Amino acid sequence: MIPYGRQTINAQDLHAVAEVLASDWLTQGPKVVEFEQQLARACAAPYAVSMANGTAALHATCAALGLTRNDWLWTSPISFVASANCARYLGAQVDFVDIDPVSRNMCPEQLAIKLAQAKLAHRLPKIVVVVHFAGYPCELKQFAELAEQYGFALVEDAAHAIGSVYGDLPIGSCQYSRATCFSFHPVKNLTTGEGGAVTTQDVQLADKIRLFCSHGITKNSADFILGRDEPWAYEQQSLGFNYRLTDIQAALGISQLDQLNQFVERRQLLFDRYQTQLEDTALQLPAMTPGQRVAWHIYSVRLTNADLRLTVFNQLRAAGIGVNVHYIPIHLQPYYRQLGFKPGDFPAAEHYYSGALTLPLFPGLTLGEQDQVIAKLREFLCA
Ligand SMILES: *Cc1c(COP(=O)(O)O)cnc(C)c1O
Repeated sequence: MIPYGRQTINAQDLHAVAEVLASDWLTQGPKVVEFEQQLARACAAPYAVSMANGTAALHATCAALGLTRNDWLWTSPISFVASANCARYLGAQVDFVDIDPVSRNMCPEQLAIKLAQAKLAHRLPKIVVVVHFAGYPCELKQFAELAEQYGFALVEDAAHAIGSVYGDLPIGSCQYSRATCFSFHPVKNLTTGEGGAVTTQDVQLADKIRLFCSHGITKNSADFILGRDEPWAYEQQSLGFNYRLTDIQAALGISQLDQLNQFVERRQLLFDRYQTQLEDTALQLPAMTPGQRVAWHIYSVRLTNADLRLTVFNQLRAAGIGVNVHYIPIHLQPYYRQLGFKPGDFPAAEHYYSGALTLPLFPGLTLGEQDQVIAKLREFLCA
């Protein structure tokens, strides 16, 4: 089976991990520090904090921004459930803003309309999480203007987008947002096995996130509340979690970051081949971005005849092609329906989902395999 996504691991990665296993530190040693420094540099952000996974990154960011049970968090319905769950962990309410059918990201105009209504109802969100779907950057400048006008914190879920560029800066620079959350799960653009990180320009936010991911404990005597001076002193100052990344994972991350440019270029080459060779089919293809670097994370198309999706999906799977669907709209999950959401709430998201199909895209996909995917898809679409 050709999978829809897959990690790329080379000899350098294997060596990096083996070296840590033979060293003094398996977790929270020098590799975590080095990984955070290199990630910050790659994102052109002053601070990066690593953690156990992308979900923890979103959870820690929301907690550090002060989200509580009286607050609202809004996000896109076309995302992985973690983009919304982060609010629920803190007891906060979730709502969604419909997508732009072309970019498949949260629609800034829809957000503006919803904010104007929420202001009248005194129910403005504290946090809006925008998701760079498939790696395609959101309209950050427009979102930042709305954040300024309505006083919410803009957070980027960049689980798909490490390596993408918005304007002149890499995603993760936080030029327009309070924080950017990454995931390094094996299907993402680079991996640490499981892993995540937050970048920010706000040192206090970075410190709060770090504390949250490490039990709420600090060992830095300058920060002590009780002013202890014993050499062994540490203080638990708030309730945190054990969300830390290991040195084993960080070493893999450093080695993978080193290859990020090659990964992105390969993804772009494969993306361009799909675009050219599927142009004349009854598929809605991803929007192109002339002159903008997109680290295409998934190649997700929409069958204009949604009735064919199930058959084409089954035929491709039977032919050994591991297609997938990104995503079942979050508000249609049983957990969110029980909170009051229902079909019809976000029509653009539901319309996109009805025909969505993700084709294989990962650096190790050979051109021959891709040709096979394209040939089979064309055959089944015309059948
Ligand atoms: C993968 C993903 C996450 C969660 O990341 P994990 O590392 O799996 O916890 C969050 N948001 C989006 C959009 C994702 O694709």
